Amino acid sequence: MSRPIVLQIDRVRTGYGKIPALTDVSLRVPEGAVVAVLGSNGAGKSTLLRVASGAMPCWAGRVLVNGKDIRGKSGWKVAREGVCYIPEGGGVFQELSVADNLDLAQRGGRVSPAALRELYELFPILGKRRDQSAGSLSGGEKRMLALGRAVLLRPKIVMLDEPSLGLAPIVVDQVFETLRVLHAEGTALLVVEQFAARALELADFAWVLAKGRVAFRGWPTQLEDPSVLEAAYLGKARAARDLAEAATSAADATAAPGPGITRHSVAAGGGVAAHRNSSEGTD
Ligand code: ATP
Repeated sequence: MSRPIVLQIDRVRTGYGKIPALTDVSLRVPEGAVVAVLGSNGAGKSTLLRVASGAMPCWAGRVLVNGKDIRGKSGWKVAREGVCYIPEGGGVFQELSVADNLDLAQRGGRVSPAALRELYELFPILGKRRDQSAGSLSGGEKRMLALGRAVLLRPKIVMLDEPSLGLAPIVVDQVFETLRVLHAEGTALLVVEQFAARALELADFAWVLAKGRVAFRGWPTQLEDPSVLEAAYLGKARAARDLAEAATSAADATAAPGPGITRHSVAAGGGVAAHRNSSEGTD
């Protein structure tokens, strides 16, 4: 049985001024799943997160969070539905201290000492900087604080824009380790990344946007084939799909699957996606 859908984007069209940035984009995130959205500069990835978090309205189509249409709802109201949106380089209150940012994550109440202790163990740097204003933190520390807030909030879905952008490799490792912690606790993740590899390692499903349209949707392993990834990034949706299907059929033939093994279980190498319903994460 497929899992409930926490985020459903149906044929969305939106843009800036009169210029469209997304056209006819659909995407679904099942509960607890990790969905990676890839694509080159200007493909529409950040716009997708803005529209999904209520930060930007749709011109057409709709966005449902836990089955509820968020049309006309402010970002704050969408957040109360269990959405945590971490924009590129943001997601913190710059003028507040680290400790106050974490306090606010607890929806008005003070963070329990035990929860805070656990968080400072996960991110020792936040403990060291607890009295500093968030605005004075480095890019990596701000990303840690935004993720720390997400850990305390325990939202249904965290939407992250370019979590590794501009960070040192060691900080990127910490960021992705935290994403694994959130995922292990059952939080769904919608991760936008320009550079594919790290996001695909974590993802159950992958989408590629090109020129504001969906150029590929499928299994992360299908994008391991550079010809599929390249066709998708160039916006050649049909070529990307045909190449991905051909590769999957070839893998089927080589693996000679026995009874009960699905096409997708072979494509996924028997990994994360192996036992999932093949319709999940696609529209
Ligand atoms: P990047 O990886 O470079 O951040 P992206 O895939 O996130 O790119 P978006 O930032 O969503 O792409 O941009 C999609 C399109 O919308 C681009 O053509 C961009 O120039 C345009 N755009 C984005 N933000 C604005 C804005 N605030 N005002 C006007 N146009 C915008």
